Amino acid sequence: MFDFISDGQTLLFILVLLYLTECLVWLKKQSVAFVSPSGKRWRLAAPKSWLGNANGALLFLSPLPPPGQIVLSHLLPVSISPSGVCAFNSQVLPSGSRPATQTGEFVPFSSIKQAGSDGAYLLLNNEKFAKCATPKQAKALASVITSAAQAKVSKRESIVRSWVAKQFDARAAEKLWREAEEEIGSLQELCTILFLFLFVAVPTIATVFGLQQLLIPAGATMIALAVLIGIMFFRLHRKFFPAESQERFENLLKMILCPPVSIRAADIITRHLLSDYSPIVVASVLPGTKEQQFVRAFALDLQHPLKHEVTEAKAVETIAWAAAEQLKASLAHVERAGDASLLGPIKREGDSVAYCPRCGIQFVVSEGECPDCPGVELVGFADQREEVQLSHRSG
Ligand SMILES: [Zn+2]
Repeated sequence: MFDFISDGQTLLFILVLLYLTECLVWLKKQSVAFVSPSGKRWRLAAPKSWLGNANGALLFLSPLPPPGQIVLSHLLPVSISPSGVCAFNSQVLPSGSRPATQTGEFVPFSSIKQAGSDGAYLLLNNEKFAKCATPKQAKALASVITSAAQAKVSKRESIVRSWVAKQFDARAAEKLWREAEEEIGSLQELCTILFLFLFVAVPTIATVFGLQQLLIPAGATMIALAVLIGIMFFRLHRKFFPAESQERFENLLKMILCPPVSIRAADIITRHLLSDYSPIVVASVLPGTKEQQFVRAFALDLQHPLKHEVTEAKAVETIAWAAAEQLKASLAHVERAGDASLLGPIKREGDSVAYCPRCGIQFVVSEGECPDCPGVELVGFADQREEVQLSHRSG
C-alpha cells in the first residue's frame, strides 16, 4: 500500500512539474504581457526580474484554470519610413530597455530586392537584418517591406502610413478579440476538465482505491482528452493564424506526446492573437484594463526618446520619422478613446523647479539630464506651458 502511494505521488509530481513548465512564459524586453487569471479583468504583467537576463525575463502564469490568460504585444524591431528600413526602434517600454540585438543598419527601399523571414529573423536580400519577437512579426514586416519596395517611390509613404494605421485599428482588434472569446470557450472548458481530471479526480480516486487498477483507464482518458483538445486547438489555430503552420504542428505534437501540456492550449491561441496591434491598443481592447500610467509613459517615451548611438543621417531620419508616426497614431488613439486628460501637464510638488518630460520625476535643480532617462533634458516648471500639453500637439 505504502509503495503504491509513493509511486502515485512520484507520478503526480512529474505531471505537476510538466504542467507548471507550461505556465512559464519567456517575456522579451520589447514585449508587453497582459494577464488575467479569471479572464475578466486584464492587467499588465511584470515579469520577475531576478528570473531574467539582458534579453528578457520569465513570467509565471496562474496555474489554475481556465487557461487563455495571456495576451502579448511587441514593439517593432525596426523603423520603417518612406525612404527605407532601419534595424532600430527608439522606443523603450516603461518596464524595459532596448534589446541589444538592434544594429541600427539602414537599407533604402531602392536597394531591397527581396524581403523574407527565417523563423523570427527578418531577411533583407537574403541576409539576416533584424531579430523579431515572433516568426509572425517577421513575416508581417517582410510583407510590408516587400510591398513598399516594389511600389513606385510616390506610393511608399501611403503604404507605410496605412501599415501604421493598421497597428492602431482598435475596432478591428476589438472585433477579433470578441470573435476569439466566443470561439475559444469550449476549448477552455475542455482544458479545465483535463486539469480537474488529472490533478483532482485521479489523485483522489487513487488514494481511496490504489493506483494499480486506475493506471490504464486514467492514462487512456487523459490521452483521449488531450487528443480532443489537440483537434480543437488545431482548428482554432488554423482559423486565427492561417500562416503559422509550423507553430500549429509543433504544439499539436507536444500536446499529444505530453498530455498535461494540452491543458494550456488556450494560452497558445490568446498569446499572439492581438500581437499585430500596438500595446496601447491592446490595453484599450482587453476588458477591465486600467493602464493609464502605461499609456502615458508609452506616449511620452515616443515624444522624448532616450538617446542612442545611431549616427548615420538616413538611419537617424528613418528612426525619427517612424517614432513621429507612432506618436501621432498613439495620441489620436488616446483621443478617440476619450482619455486625452491623461496626457495633461504634471502637477508641481513642493520645492521642485523642473521635471523630466519623459518619466515625470521632479527635481530641485533646473538644468541637466534626467538621471533615469539618458539624453532627456529637464524642463523648468516655468516653461511647462509651451512644452507639455501633449494632447494638443497631435493635430
Ligand atoms: Zn526621466
